[in-house]
Amino acid sequence: MKQIDLRSDTVTRPTQKMLEAMMAAPVGDDVYGEDPTVNQLEQTAAEMTGMADALFCASGTQTNLVALLSHCQRGEEYIVGQTAHTYKYEAGGGAVLGSIQPQPLDFADDGTLDLATVERFIKPDDFHFARTRLFCLENTQAGKVLPMAYLRQARSLADRHGLGFHLDGARVFNAAVKLKIDVKEITTLFDSVSCCLSKGLGTPVGSVLCGSKNFIARARRWRKMVGGGMRQAGILAAAGLYALSHNIDRLADDHANAARLAEGLSSIDAIHVDEKTLQTNMVLADIDADMQALVKHLADRDIRISLGSPVRLVTHLDIDAADINRAVAGFRSFF
Ligand SMILES: *Cc1c(COP(=O)(O)O)cnc(C)c1O
Repeated sequence: MKQIDLRSDTVTRPTQKMLEAMMAAPVGDDVYGEDPTVNQLEQTAAEMTGMADALFCASGTQTNLVALLSHCQRGEEYIVGQTAHTYKYEAGGGAVLGSIQPQPLDFADDGTLDLATVERFIKPDDFHFARTRLFCLENTQAGKVLPMAYLRQARSLADRHGLGFHLDGARVFNAAVKLKIDVKEITTLFDSVSCCLSKGLGTPVGSVLCGSKNFIARARRWRKMVGGGMRQAGILAAAGLYALSHNIDRLADDHANAARLAEGLSSIDAIHVDEKTLQTNMVLADIDADMQALVKHLADRDIRISLGSPVRLVTHLDIDAADINRAVAGFRSFF
């Protein structure tokens, strides 16, 4: 039976067409700047996000890391969400490799950072303090789309205080599709944006960092330093190019499937779906059950979910509406 993997949108396999695009890609040595497919991906990503330049990296952790290193010097500080990927899930790279101090703040329920609080935490210019240099947001944040009005206010806060403004846009295309806007409307509010190609967009590897020419030149040096200079990386970039031209509009299907999953699970008494967080491709569900037993029951039916409270269920390119029906039936049969 087909495996239905709801743990993450990173579990997708490249499709035959994506693999064909990878096999056909012209390549060269990207450390010499000579891989035409990488160059094309970087140019395409820059154009799509409305930025001057872009850099292809191995992962979203790497794009966020080189962004931190490019914005901040040793002894400087970035303001970030307490549960933000850039702070919590990247092994402390900014601190370890850049001596950059995080100032984590709690996310509000809607995935924003309260701007009055951010303003209060910006350190005055005083030798007792680290110098606050950068403000980071995440969009989508745990599946939630940040409101455009908020982003504009956050941009002006960054301007008022002379801060750099970075977006961890691992799933920024999900946000744009949900809002039915061009992704540029979101990305051009920032100085730098990291976008994952290997989440909902379905490539096996890769993220792009987009920003100004100067910023990307600095980031390119840091990428080399952290071992991210790749050679005939065009075979990977080709997957990214394929994804950027074929897999964006279809994110709406993932959102519809997440809504369908939420609706099905809500009909089970022991499951409570958080409707507020149901915006894109993630369903957060509180489940009143022996979770180990539930995970096993589902695994026996070729349905994989993570442990967690709430449990995060994620839809993606390898899941269709019929799979959602089968998953809901799997949950129902347990209860
Ligand atoms: C996945 C993800 C990243 C990058 O993770 P990698 O696994 O290193 O590609 C960054 N931010 C968010 C919000 C993510 O979900």
